[in-house]
Amino acid sequence: MEYSDKVLEHFYAPRNVGTMPDADAIGEAGDANCGDIMKIYIKVKENVIDKVKFMTFGCGSAIASSSIATELIKGKTLEEAWSLTNKSVIEALDGLPAEKIHCSVLAEQTIHKAINNYREKNGFEKWKDKWENDN
Ligand SMILES: [Zn+2]
Repeated sequence: MEYSDKVLEHFYAPRNVGTMPDADAIGEAGDANCGDIMKIYIKVKENVIDKVKFMTFGCGSAIASSSIATELIKGKTLEEAWSLTNKSVIEALDGLPAEKIHCSVLAEQTIHKAINNYREKNGFEKWKDKWENDN
C-alpha cells in the first residue's frame, strides 16, 4: 500500500490531538471496516469553529484523515465545515489508497455529527447527513 508524504506526515505528527473538556459539541463515528473510532470536539464562537480537537483510535489513514480534517475546519463557519467532503480530505492528503477511502468518509461523518450535536444543543434542527440511512 502506497501512502503519500502528506498522509505519513499527519500520521507521525497529527495536529489538534486531544480531548476538550469544555467543548461546545462532540461528534463520534465508527467504521466497521477498519474498526476505526473517531471523535471530534469543537468550540464555536459566533458560528465559527474556534477550536477543534480529535481523538482517533484506528488505522494510520484514519488518524491522518482526522488530523487534516481538523486543520481544514478550524476557523471555518459551521456551513463551510459542513460542506467539507471526504473528497476534500483525500485531496488535502494528496490521495489515499482505495481501500482506505472509508477513513476520509469517517472524518466527514464525524464532523457532521459534531456540527449536528452543536445545532441540537442550541435548539436548531439537525442538518440532513447524506451518509445517514438509518433513523
Ligand atoms: Zn481505517
